[in-house]
Amino acid sequence: MLVVFDIDMTIANGTRRALAAGPEPDRAKDPARYEAWKNAINAGVEHDMPIPGMLELVTAMADYNAVYLTARGSDLRSQTRDWLKANGFPDLMLFMRAQSDFRSSAKFKEYVIQKLIVAEHESVIVVDDDERGELAKVCKLRGWTMLKAGV
Ligand SMILES: [Mg+2]
Repeated sequence: MLVVFDIDMTIANGTRRALAAGPEPDRAKDPARYEAWKNAINAGVEHDMPIPGMLELVTAMADYNAVYLTARGSDLRSQTRDWLKANGFPDLMLFMRAQSDFRSSAKFKEYVIQKLIVAEHESVIVVDDDERGELAKVCKLRGWTMLKAGV
């Protein structure tokens, strides 16, 4: 069984950063504004609080083929690793979006999950807050079970 854990708003509460940064601007229409927003949303990522119960859930699933899969840019890899370690989360593989990858979060995650499925008919559990509601559609199409997370 493959178990996929999102990070933002699934195991890490980034509400404070999201409120400070405001709504995500359209990158294609206004790249400068998007960059400013990205810097704001990433600022203080190390201070996110863990979402209650998720440490226990991830730990309990660590014996399965469990991974972290986040649309965070790979420029946040060391901060993300440090946060996971500081908050006691198990050391699982961590998949992040390349900085040059501008696919939607759902498209990126669909691609990675497909690559991670090693056995035919392997069951897949995706634990994600699915902020935009797009990943739920992907999971439904692919036959993956999605557990909606979030606070
Ligand atoms: Mg999320």
